Amino acid sequence: MRFFANVPVNDDLRGLAGDAILSGRFPHAVILEGEDAPTKALFARQIAAALLCTGAKEAGALPCRGCAACRKVLEDRTPDVVTVRREDKATLGVEPIRAMRGDMYLSPTEAPRKIYIIEDAHTMTVQAQNALLKVLEEPPTEVNVLLLCERSEAMLATIRSRAQTLRMPRLTEEELDRFAEERPALRAIRHGQPDTWQEMKLACDGCAGRLEELAGRTQLTAMQKQREAVLAIPEAAAGRKGYAAVADAVRRLSGKRKELTQDLSLLSLALRDLCLIERCEHAPLLCYTDRGQAQLTAQALGSVRLHAMYDAVCEAMDDLARNANVALVLSEMTVTFQG
Ligand SMILES: [Zn+2]
Repeated sequence: MRFFANVPVNDDLRGLAGDAILSGRFPHAVILEGEDAPTKALFARQIAAALLCTGAKEAGALPCRGCAACRKVLEDRTPDVVTVRREDKATLGVEPIRAMRGDMYLSPTEAPRKIYIIEDAHTMTVQAQNALLKVLEEPPTEVNVLLLCERSEAMLATIRSRAQTLRMPRLTEEELDRFAEERPALRAIRHGQPDTWQEMKLACDGCAGRLEELAGRTQLTAMQKQREAVLAIPEAAAGRKGYAAVADAVRRLSGKRKELTQDLSLLSLALRDLCLIERCEHAPLLCYTDRGQAQLTAQALGSVRLHAMYDAVCEAMDDLARNANVALVLSEMTVTFQG
């Protein structure tokens, strides 16, 4: 049986939680302790799914992620799995805990049990903790409470003694590498930009949940750099520095066929913007975000040159698709650009 297949926690922890659920021995109250907030939230939801899953045996996986119960929990569509949040407050006060306690003694709506996920449990006020304690002292039988916290010591000892703590240790480098292999975006960075991947591993501090956020930012900066490089070409062509400046700008494009094709397709969009804005100042733009810059560049280049440049880019893309020599394609295009 595979347990919690896509949750980036170590195998021991997956096995411990999975076995307890399968054997019906999962405690009423569990503290999930660790610094990695996204992973904690993911793990808690998957535990909730596993507690309600009906397809584990057939699928050989817990949660199976395919049965109706799993899907409802994972898509947050069941009233029987309730998340208690502090919202934008600094602490988790007594009111949400009291509301939870009231709800707990009502029968579940559709599932055989109810599961409560308390986020940022370490921020509970003492009042809130005392309210929670009353629940944990005599919990309704068909109820599970998952307390997510950074450090369990922030909670009353009386609460800790009534809950089992599952500590989520930071992942090792090898575990982070393994995790990356399961995620296309991370795998692409690991193999395509090994230096960036090393930096990301350092920055995430063993918290796999942070990697995806960092990956998003990495892709964003890569995209910004690509846009800047592409938009520098019409700028250079519009300027007075002549062929050398245009050739310099073209040299900043990727020299690799696949990436160059992407660069050129972005450049064709930029030139399309310029052709349109040269004729109509309200034309919708696809590439430029700075309409004023687009207008100035378009005016400087003029309609005839813009269309010639646009044609040259399309031709270059066709040539690349036909496997023409990359350097040759670029130099032919640059000649057309200088006007
Ligand atoms: Zn299932």
